[in-house]
Order: sequence, then C-alpha cells, then structure tokens
Amino acid sequence: MSILQLEMGKTGMSEALLTDVRFHRLLLAFDTDLARRARAGRCVRCGGVLHSARYRRKPRGLPAGLGEEYRQRFSFCCAKRECRRRKTVPSLRFLGPKVYAAAIVVLRSALTHGATPAARRRLQALVAASRRTVTRWHRWWCETFVSTPFWHGARASFDTPVSTDALPASLLERFSGDPATQLLAALRFLGPLTGGATVLAM
Ligand SMILES: [Zn+2]
Repeated sequence: MSILQLEMGKTGMSEALLTDVRFHRLLLAFDTDLARRARAGRCVRCGGVLHSARYRRKPRGLPAGLGEEYRQRFSFCCAKRECRRRKTVPSLRFLGPKVYAAAIVVLRSALTHGATPAARRRLQALVAASRRTVTRWHRWWCETFVSTPFWHGARASFDTPVSTDALPASLLERFSGDPATQLLAALRFLGPLTGGATVLAM
C-alpha cells in the first residue's frame, strides 16, 4: 500500500511519519554514514586530506527533540590552505538549500496528487508551509528537477517509466514497502542531487 493510499484512508500515516523522531534519527544515521565514507576520500582537486567543515542549517517543520546535531549539514574542506575546496556530502535530511526538511518537501509535494482535501488540510496544518511555498515546490519538481542531469541519468534505472507529471508521488510509488520504507528509499535515491549542487536553487 502506498503513502497516497494510506493518506486517502484515514490512518494519518503521513503525519505520523513526519512527527516520528525515530524516523528522522534514522535519516541522520544515514547521513552520518555517508559523511564517514566521504571523509575517507581525498580532495578531488589536489588529493589533499579532508577536514570537517560542517555548517548549521535551520530545517523547518521537524518534531522537537532531534537535538543540535540534526541541524548540522555534513561538509568537508580540503586541508591545503591554497586549495580549500569544499565537498558537501549527499544528505537524506536536506534537499539543497530548501528551508524545509527533505522528507517534508517530498511528502507534502507528493500529496498534491491524489490526497483528499481533508488530508491535505491536515498536512498543511502540520507542515505550516504556505500554499505559495507548496506551489513553488510543485514547479520545482515539474521544471527544475526533471531538467537536472541527475534525473536524466537516473530515470533510466526504473523498469516502468516514472510519470514526470505526478512527481514526486510517482517516484515514491516506484519503491516497495510501507510508507516509511518508500520515503526512505526516495530520499536515498535523491541523495546524489543534494551534494551541494547549485541546480537546486529555487
Ligand atoms: Zn584540495
């Protein structure tokens, strides 16, 4: 059963996911692992060692109790003074420079397609993103996202084509499992897009 089917029922599963601290901690665990692996690499420009250069984000729409570490975007910087090239690690928590957490952008955008007005209202109240923001996210999926080199390469990995008109709902539906597993898989899939790419600007 997909996220949308659940949402169209009355389980409130989407709300449950977004307010579930354990789910968000899981995303942090994935990000920590990605950072650990990135740390083991070298500067792509000069081969120098990498130093931690985290920076603070203020992701909106998250439940209380996640702690300071959750707000830290993992990033590295070449240790050589004359280079200092930055390497920002792909993330399951942050979708580029968007102020809302990635899970919220994906889930709230997905519910534009197919959810009942009541379900949308409930989520709207929870996420507190304005209608204008949600409309902007919608445009981002339909115009910016689909024109990224990442999407052009990655879409071929799906046996059944993903409908670009219904993104990101159509993307979530390509992953199997319960709603949490689907959302997690989608965030992992989008990870490479979040590695400091400027194409995400909106
Ligand atoms: Zn370097």
